[in-house]
Amino acid sequence: MTPALNDLAPDSFDALAAERFGATPLEARKLFSMVHAKSSRSLWRGEGALELSRTRGVRRAVLDRAVREGELPRLEKLGSETGADGFTRYLFACPDGARIEAVRIPIPCLAPGAQVPERLLEKPHAVVCVSSQVGCALGCVFCATGKLGFRRNLAVWEIVEQLRIVRAESDPPVRGALFMGMGEPMLNYDRVMAAARVFSAPQGYAIAADRITVSTAGVVPGIRRFTAERQPFRLAVSLGAATSEKRRRLMPIEETWPLPELAAALREQQASRGGRVMLAWVAIDGVNVGEEDARALRELVGDLPIRLDLIDVADPDGAFRPPPPERLAAFRASLQILGQPVARRYSGGREVRAGCGMLAATPIGGQADAPKTREPPGR
Ligand code: SF4
Repeated sequence: MTPALNDLAPDSFDALAAERFGATPLEARKLFSMVHAKSSRSLWRGEGALELSRTRGVRRAVLDRAVREGELPRLEKLGSETGADGFTRYLFACPDGARIEAVRIPIPCLAPGAQVPERLLEKPHAVVCVSSQVGCALGCVFCATGKLGFRRNLAVWEIVEQLRIVRAESDPPVRGALFMGMGEPMLNYDRVMAAARVFSAPQGYAIAADRITVSTAGVVPGIRRFTAERQPFRLAVSLGAATSEKRRRLMPIEETWPLPELAAALREQQASRGGRVMLAWVAIDGVNVGEEDARALRELVGDLPIRLDLIDVADPDGAFRPPPPERLAAFRASLQILGQPVARRYSGGREVRAGCGMLAATPIGGQADAPKTREPPGR
């Protein structure tokens, strides 16, 4: 079978290059670099082959075999649109017609009109938020992707392609990646980790591992595996509520992996890795921004070191609304009982449907597809 050369983590690529193309370890590294970092504006066959043929330090026979036998599948970019705050939503078509999205986030990333600290202006860059699945089975009620239902996992190359294309068009350099787009990364664990390794490989996209964040709604076996494997990437967990009763209504995953189990997995993560556990809280007016929510969170986390990010809900249907400034301020005041850092994370690009929870493969400049059947989360 013809191997897709952009579908492999660095170690698998090296093994394949040695076995199929007769490459030495150094030649394999150079080929990997061609496939990813250096091939952004070229095609594997055609101008890419020409460029490849000029690769120094790789024997001609190895290059010929790689070009002859290796495939380099591509996503089709259907379009992109940029909001007033600089967030850009990308829409891609996969070979089977599935549509997925990625978002380029400008850093500094602050609400329009916000005071930008001097030091952040010194090194502007971008972070790319990528999708890991077509749709999502977890059905969080505040998320447009959840309303699409689950269609399939993305291949490694389909994840990597999102970053490659966005990076090729990005003016500020891309220095970070987030697995926070469509889908639950921990339910496509192997491919997500392989893609993250391509992102972080020096001969790939050279993004520092601690600038690659894998965000989960709380898939406990995935978190435990992530801990056991000592993955170098950052983990973020979306909590939404701190009592099972309330969380169940917002995030059906609570039925499968309830909060006590999730909290135990996060303690293991912190004990193994140190530092603070990153928790995300989608703030919904009248739902999870009361004093009782802060108290429940205090009880849940206890002395576990955390950093809590508050994110305004962005529900395109308008059923859930973000808290007005005074209620958010009151909630932040209540959260002081945690005695831990709490930050408000700006989720921008709302007018182009690039905000957290808004990704639904909406045509560029158009309306969302009709929701499809939702599947229950499996265990
Ligand atoms: S928030 Fe994440 S896990 Fe929940 S439905 Fe949306 S994509 Fe899936």
